[in-house]
Amino acid sequence: MRFTSAGSSAIRWRGASGSRTGIADSNARVYGCCGELKIDAAGAISRLLEMGVQDYLLASSLLGVLAQRLVRRLCPNCRREIPFAGVDGQDPAWSQNGEAPRTVWEAVGCEACSGTGYLGRLGIFELLPATSEMCKIIVQRADAGSIRNLAVRLGMHLLRDDGWEKVRQGVTTLAEVLRVTREEM
Ligand SMILES: [Zn+2]
Repeated sequence: MRFTSAGSSAIRWRGASGSRTGIADSNARVYGCCGELKIDAAGAISRLLEMGVQDYLLASSLLGVLAQRLVRRLCPNCRREIPFAGVDGQDPAWSQNGEAPRTVWEAVGCEACSGTGYLGRLGIFELLPATSEMCKIIVQRADAGSIRNLAVRLGMHLLRDDGWEKVRQGVTTLAEVLRVTREEM
């Protein structure tokens, strides 16, 4: 069975009446020559600016951007706890997420999950709030990297951080999180 990842960024902003209205680009996806590239919360803001949304309008009306990816949920009937052997390539982005766990869980496969080791899916998220500081650099048409760096400095948890937390909880696997966040690595 093949699962396709469903990544998207939802953007909400205030209408003229002050009420929350609209989805600017509910999928906020970029299509490139190598196929579909999914973007993160910071990338969605850059994408809107590239699409011609006026920076001052975006900055004055944006409430926040929520980026999400779907990962497969481990089957609770057959998942197996194994010693954590580290991440291939020792990507430093992963080692910054606190102390490495001693164990993680892997997919096995049983009758309940049709031998796949997974049962259902769950989301991993990152929420970029449009703070006044953020709006200031949007008006300056900052690039996605600068927007992301500021958001992290203001406390935003990246997609891979949320995914890593769910690996620690044993609800999904490291392979799943790496699969859907590789564009962000
Ligand atoms: Zn199972």
